[in-house]
Amino acid sequence: MSNMTCQQCDEDIERNGNDVWIHTDGDPENGHDAQATIRDYDAEEQYQDVLDEIYEPVNVCGYDYDAGRALRQLDPIAFRTGMLDYFDGEGIEIV
Ligand SMILES: [Zn+2]
Repeated sequence: MSNMTCQQCDEDIERNGNDVWIHTDGDPENGHDAQATIRDYDAEEQYQDVLDEIYEPVNVCGYDYDAGRALRQLDPIAFRTGMLDYFDGEGIEIV
């Protein structure tokens, strides 16, 4: 989650030590704050990958499934809720 692009100026942005998104070159572009956004579909894909990495695959009736994929399909509402919390914590706006 370190390679993001500012929505306003398309410059690369990164999180600083205070977990605030800043322009990578260090200068505010035209005085605006760095704006980290992600498209809804991409957010779902990324959050699924995050869960797949954090959690072990789950076994259902002898078959193994990636945890993120399993939650996304079994309980889309729980998946979406966790996803919104995750990106909110990352300071990234879903658009
Ligand atoms: Zn910018």
